[in-house]
Amino acid sequence: MAEPLARRLTDTWAEQIESGFILGDPSAPVETRLINDPASGVTFRLRWLPHRNLRTDTAALESRGILSPDRDESVLYRDPRDPSGHHCFLCPANIRVCHPLEELVPVRAAGRNWLAGANFAWLAHNHFTVIAEEHVDQSFDRRVIAAMLDLHAQTAGEFRVVYNGAYAGATIPWHLHLHATTDAFPVEELHPDRAPEYPTPVRVFAGAGSLETEVTDYVIGWERRDPEHHRVNMLVASRGGRPMVFVFLRDTRFTIAGHKGLIGGWEVAGDYAYSDRRDDFDAADIDAVRAAFAEIRPPAVGMDRDR
Ligand SMILES: [Zn+2]
Repeated sequence: MAEPLARRLTDTWAEQIESGFILGDPSAPVETRLINDPASGVTFRLRWLPHRNLRTDTAALESRGILSPDRDESVLYRDPRDPSGHHCFLCPANIRVCHPLEELVPVRAAGRNWLAGANFAWLAHNHFTVIAEEHVDQSFDRRVIAAMLDLHAQTAGEFRVVYNGAYAGATIPWHLHLHATTDAFPVEELHPDRAPEYPTPVRVFAGAGSLETEVTDYVIGWERRDPEHHRVNMLVASRGGRPMVFVFLRDTRFTIAGHKGLIGGWEVAGDYAYSDRRDDFDAADIDAVRAAFAEIRPPAVGMDRDR
């Protein structure tokens, strides 16, 4: 019998720490502030993760062997639509040239080949970026939620799976990818009856019907109302051994919030990572968190039942 996927991933994470590929010290306690939201009953989590500052420091990454100083830039694939001219950070062939220490775990999910690579600028424990083998757009269709549910099931519910819509947290819109981690997200404790009190619009799917069909219909319905701007963030997790899907409604015109910056799937799920601006980390309270959520509220929400 093949080794279970959760074990393969957690073993790979441990090996990647051992090899020096992971920034910071993931085995050390993370400085955390917990902020209770009386309205929704969810306790938001703020984490101080200064190692993430190094993720854009080319010299530091090269000196640690995380980024190969010998990489041949001329062989790297660049999406012609990327105005920055950067190579695609998610193409497996590019990763092999740039990050020879990175181990890519092949995974088959919902009929597609994926590769899971440890995120060296981790936001959580056992944090993997799960990359489609092919360079295809980060856009929602039925196969995306099917793959999320399949991955979650293949890890026996141990790994949470996150999707960020293009320009709604995902900063690489040209290469399909998911995130996976063993850390629970604060929103998982949200009681579905209290979802209307959660500070950003969320729909919780936990019924006995087909999650894949229900979520697909809902997300496509939202995106069709304004294809240029409407996107989602999604989280697949389990409660009581049963999978549930959290769908957060997003609008690409409202992705940046005051003190926090870009708001993606981690933040809407209640998890705020800080790597600089220590004062903001220390000062944030429930009002600051709710204010950030208010700033990214899609204007179309509240006009009808989609709140
Ligand atoms: Zn790519």
